[in-house]
Amino acid sequence: MVAGAGAAEELGDLAARRRILLAGFAAVLILIAAGSYFIWRSVNRELAVARLQSDFVSAVSHEFRTPLTSLRQFTELLLDEDDLPLEKRQSYYRAQVRATDRLHRFVESLLDFGRMEAVRRPYRFRWLDAGALAKDVAEEFGREVKGHGFSVDCIMDSADCSVNADPEALSRALWNLLDNAAKYSGDSRKIELAVNRARAGSQVCITVRDYGLGILVSEQKQIFQKFIRGAAAKSRGIKGTGIGLAMVRHIVEAHGGNINVSSAPGAGSTFTIVLPAQRQGTENGTHPDR
Ligand code: ADP
Repeated sequence: MVAGAGAAEELGDLAARRRILLAGFAAVLILIAAGSYFIWRSVNRELAVARLQSDFVSAVSHEFRTPLTSLRQFTELLLDEDDLPLEKRQSYYRAQVRATDRLHRFVESLLDFGRMEAVRRPYRFRWLDAGALAKDVAEEFGREVKGHGFSVDCIMDSADCSVNADPEALSRALWNLLDNAAKYSGDSRKIELAVNRARAGSQVCITVRDYGLGILVSEQKQIFQKFIRGAAAKSRGIKGTGIGLAMVRHIVEAHGGNINVSSAPGAGSTFTIVLPAQRQGTENGTHPDR
């Protein structure tokens, strides 16, 4: 009987040890699986970042190449042909100015993006008329895209649309939206720009509408992140760096506002910048958020 009890005890011990061993084994397996998952995830992340970086470098190179090629061609034409009629000569000079402007704008925008990333972008706020600013930007942009058949229709509210803004930064944000409206226009050549006072006068809305490719609902949030480009932009080979909307959002948020989009594939897109409006008697005040 004693021997039987001893054997049973030994069997019980063995079973307990086996259970501990199995539990240990399972814990090691779980640790290995979790470790592998985290390694796989961080490798994937690194690869995605590397891909974004290389896409960005190639996009930046392409953005430089087009105006540089144009500059070179017009300079060669001017050099090669001594007896060019004055009118033609002037049109070549104008093309050179356009290409130089484009390069200048692109470099400035890259520098601005760098400063925003480093949180070193100083904003110089002052009260200004958003309608007048939008009109100036639309006119300048209209001159740039007229040759491609685009028209920019402006609809301005008769109400006072004063906002506390950095004119240079707000112009850049608006330019980026207009530039996208033209870039993703598909066959349409119509762009609309509207400025109006909303929400019982507490907000000023600046709206850019196009009738182009539109954006998938699933992409509408992501496109405001840096380097993110939509599927349509990539599949159609439309050039871009993926920083335009990230900059717009950064600028608008620095002004205490927000940006939203409403869009459907094939039906065009409407981007709206919403800014706090000037309240009575705050002309000399500071920014609402400061
Ligand atoms: P980029 O135009 O250089 O790709 P953006 O940050 O300006 O970068 O835009 C991000 C993406 O959002 C674009 O790649 C495009 O897919 C989409 N997008 C932006 N504006 C429009 C628009 N007006 N119509 C359609 N798609 C747009």
